[in-house]
Amino acid sequence: MGGASKATYEKVRKGSDFDAVVHHIEKFCELKRKKARTKVRMVCVASRQELLMELPDLIRLASRLGVDQVRIKQRIIQWENVSDSGKYLSRSLRLDSNPNYRKVLGEAQRLSKNLRMPPRIVTAGIHSPSHPCLQPWNSMYISTEGKVIPCCTMGIPETWCLGDLTQEKLAEIWNNRAYRELRKQIRSNEIPEPCKACYLSADC
Ligand code: SF4
Repeated sequence: MGGASKATYEKVRKGSDFDAVVHHIEKFCELKRKKARTKVRMVCVASRQELLMELPDLIRLASRLGVDQVRIKQRIIQWENVSDSGKYLSRSLRLDSNPNYRKVLGEAQRLSKNLRMPPRIVTAGIHSPSHPCLQPWNSMYISTEGKVIPCCTMGIPETWCLGDLTQEKLAEIWNNRAYRELRKQIRSNEIPEPCKACYLSADC
């Protein structure tokens, strides 16, 4: 979620429709309550000041919709297309370096305790050998074109595409050579290049 208000969301996600997004999350939550055992997780990438300040409102929104977890990405990699030849550059955005981060996060956590349906607040995005990334074992990111990427931190298939759902089955991709190699690299702490921003130490 790129914001808790229509104005911020649509400013950050150009061409989006905040009301439609909220409606779809609501439908997901309804489906989950009726038949699925899955959890609905809302990922907040508060990389800009105005998004950070909306975090308490986002917790209220998540609670109203019935979202189970709000995951706050403390570090993200922003990929930029720098040429027509498909070359991408990355830059690490650090929410935890924002001077208001701790204060606003504390406020959101206090607020959550008093809500009737409090979403669990999880901070994520910083990894180390003793706190390795588990995304290659527990989640997938699928682009609108059906391309499979390890996580939403990368978010665009041009960075690292592990499979194509228009060509292969999901279970085949999940166990393919690229996925097995990624898991092996993380297990052995040979961190692949696109993952290095997540492994920066907390104080660097
Ligand atoms: S970029 Fe790599 S380390 Fe970071 S969340 Fe994705 S898979 Fe994990």
